[in-house]
Amino acid sequence: LAQLFRPLDMLGMVYREIKQGLIDMEAMFGLIDTPAEIADAPGAADLAITGGHVRFAHVDFAYEPRRQILHDVSFDVPPGAKLAIVGHSGAGKSTLSRILYRFYDITGGAVTIDGQNIAQVKQDSLRRAIGIVPQDTVLFNDTIGYNIAYGRPDASQAEIEAAAKGAAIHEFILSLPDGYATQVGERGLKLSGGEKQRVAIARTILKDPAILILDEATSALDSATEADIQSALGTVSQSRTTIVIAHRLSTITDADEILVLAAGRIIERGRHDALLAAGGAYADMWALQQAEEESAAMAAA
Ligand code: ADP
Ligand code: MG
Repeated sequence: LAQLFRPLDMLGMVYREIKQGLIDMEAMFGLIDTPAEIADAPGAADLAITGGHVRFAHVDFAYEPRRQILHDVSFDVPPGAKLAIVGHSGAGKSTLSRILYRFYDITGGAVTIDGQNIAQVKQDSLRRAIGIVPQDTVLFNDTIGYNIAYGRPDASQAEIEAAAKGAAIHEFILSLPDGYATQVGERGLKLSGGEKQRVAIARTILKDPAILILDEATSALDSATEADIQSALGTVSQSRTTIVIAHRLSTITDADEILVLAAGRIIERGRHDALLAAGGAYADMWALQQAEEESAAMAAA
């Protein structure tokens, strides 16, 4: 009988893996359509991380052959450095993170991590090396503990709690009726945007990736929550290569380099102070946000 059931068991396992993979992709990238199948190159080896140096060299990209999205994009993020990407909606910011995760292959140029072309390494090793805190985290209909451990099912309770502490959500979880066993998601406790984001941060702490991608939430969080999240993010990004897709420029004044992307091209680049002094597109965006924040503060007063 066991022999009869083994293939069925395996089928179930494969199905779950595929399903989780899809949910994961949707959750992380807000994709509606399924990307074309990307295969490992023959004889691909595991990515060997030595520090997490990310390099885009003259990258061109198109989702469809007739519409080029990225044009000659080059940048370098040395191990442990922080790169920020800003630009209007549709500029190509999220596309850069999808390319780094190799959901799509580029049409020109090269993307390397620690000198290895990402198209030539095993995808699972690539994806193990990269952690993503997405704009909107989708929670599974399961316990909050499961949701944190997702991606590291072998994690111990102590590891889960340490990650939750790093994400400043441990105390909140202890206050729930069933603690870490509390059911969340559609059929359980609904968490606020800020709480979900902290779950995503805890997940990433547990995954412990060399490279971190933060896709900042566009929706405004209250300022206390925002400060908590920024401090938790500061902790995770410490000593990791970090790429942050930023909407609030006040969170990236410390970035090692800021790229301003417009219609798939880098139109400005540099550190915050230099970009302000240059008086270009970044300086305009900054002035606009400062004015918005002032009027919001006045309206609140
Ligand atoms: P941003 O994150 O800066 O708002 P995106 O990287 O999501 O921008 O999108 C850049 C461009 O690529 C947009 O014009 C968008 O319409 C297009 N695009 C995004 N995803 C797809 C897709 N799956 N298929 C075709 N075009 C896409
Ligand atoms: Mg985006």
